[in-house]
This record gives sequence, structure tokens and C-alpha cells, in this order.
Amino acid sequence: MPYIDPHIHMVSRTTDDYQRMAQAGCVAITEPAFWAGFDRSSAQGFVDYYRQLTDTEPKRAATYGINHHCWLCINPKEAEDVGFAREVISIIPDFLDCENVLGIGEIGLNKNSKNELIILEEQLALAQRLDQLVLVHTPHLEDKLKGTNLIMDAIDNTSIDPGRVLIDHVEEHTVRAVLDRGFWAGMTLYPDSKCTPQRAADIIEIHGTDRLWINSAGDWGPSDPLAVPKCRVELASRGHSQAIINTISYDNPLSFLSQSGKFSVK
Ligand SMILES: [Zn+2]
Repeated sequence: MPYIDPHIHMVSRTTDDYQRMAQAGCVAITEPAFWAGFDRSSAQGFVDYYRQLTDTEPKRAATYGINHHCWLCINPKEAEDVGFAREVISIIPDFLDCENVLGIGEIGLNKNSKNELIILEEQLALAQRLDQLVLVHTPHLEDKLKGTNLIMDAIDNTSIDPGRVLIDHVEEHTVRAVLDRGFWAGMTLYPDSKCTPQRAADIIEIHGTDRLWINSAGDWGPSDPLAVPKCRVELASRGHSQAIINTISYDNPLSFLSQSGKFSVK
């Protein structure tokens, strides 16, 4: 059965990964803009990155029958310099009309700092003004609960419909609040940090499948581009129906992403 990986950083992955994903049933992906592992030295670095996301990667993915989509933003890790971040934000509208761009993301918080929050609010304002879907990154470990609440409060201060926002990297202690406030929630499947496929299966058994999806968030660090099919196998081994497995790994991403009017699967 086909699946969608709605959060994976393919600029950091090899072509072999595309091939293995296609063999495992991947038909579409979405790639949020993120931190490259180093700070870019100029706003022009983001222009080149956005060209890679909107032009180069879709062609690379298409070779393997995978439809590639992306999200644009400046990530929270590079938002500490507010002037620099504003320069980058001013570039984003030039790319939003590209056919594979689904919205603004992954925006959010990293260390929950004041400047990160300022830039988060300005990117939410951009999404509101241009009626864009939003994909949200939440902080790691001890900063996660506080950061998730700060982000949800910031979104509630806009007129953005929570049904058009996906809050990613939820874990056991944040998933309920995210869903109860009307947002969509994403579980990131990592080999050891964040959710493992086993923890994600536990969360699905406790919280159900409404407005919930799974993704690999594969990037340049320790991560697994096949995490979504591995979680499907975990669910199947626990006796869950094919319908539940498809809901979490195909139907839910399709429903949320289709709100953009630009998402497609082959
Ligand atoms: Zn990411």
C-alpha cells in the first residue's frame, strides 16, 4: 500500500534513499525548510536553498515516482538575529507561488527565546496575510512542553484556523493538548530520540488516529528515511487493521495537505 512521508529533509539524503523509499511504497513527500547544520552567511544562501527545494528536489524525487512538495521559512535556530531573519522573510513571498510550495514551515521555537518568538509571530502574520498552511517545529526534550504551549498561544493570537496548522514532533506529554486545541499533530519517528515507531504505536493506541500523522523527519543527523514504513510494520505486528495503518500514513496527510490546493500524489 502507498504511503506519504509528510516531513523529510531530502536535501540531506542520497538518491539511494529516494530509491529505497519508493520501493517501500512512498508516493509523495513534503520537505520543510530547516537548519542546514550550519548557519548560512547571507540571505542569498536562503534564495539558493529555496531554489533547491522548489526546482532541484522535485526533479530528483520524480525520477523515483515520488511527488515532492515543500514549505518555506527561516527556521528558529537562525532566527536569533532578528534583522537577518526579516531579510530572509522578505524573500519568501517570491517563492510561494511555485507549484510545489504548500505553505510556511517548519516555523516554531528552538530555545524558546524572545527573538525566536518575535520571528515566529512575524512568520505567522505572513501565513495569515497570504492564507498559507503552517507546519510547526516544536523544541526538543525539556523545552518541548513550554515551547509547544507558547507556539499554540501565538497561533491563537492570529486568525489562522488551527485546522490549517500541523504541530510536529509531538510526544506523549504534548499530543493531547495539541489535538484538544484543534490543531493537527505529527509524530516524528527517530531511531532513538523523539518517538520511536513503538512509542508512536503506543500513542496511536491511546489517542486514536484523528488529525494525527507520522513522519521520519530524515535529515543530515542520525535518522531513518524508512521510519514510516517501519511504523506501519509495527502497527501491523500488533494486529491493527490496514484501515488504521492507511489512515495514519496516507489518508491523514492527504487530507491536511490537500487544503493547500497544491498537494498531489501520482
Ligand atoms: Zn524537520
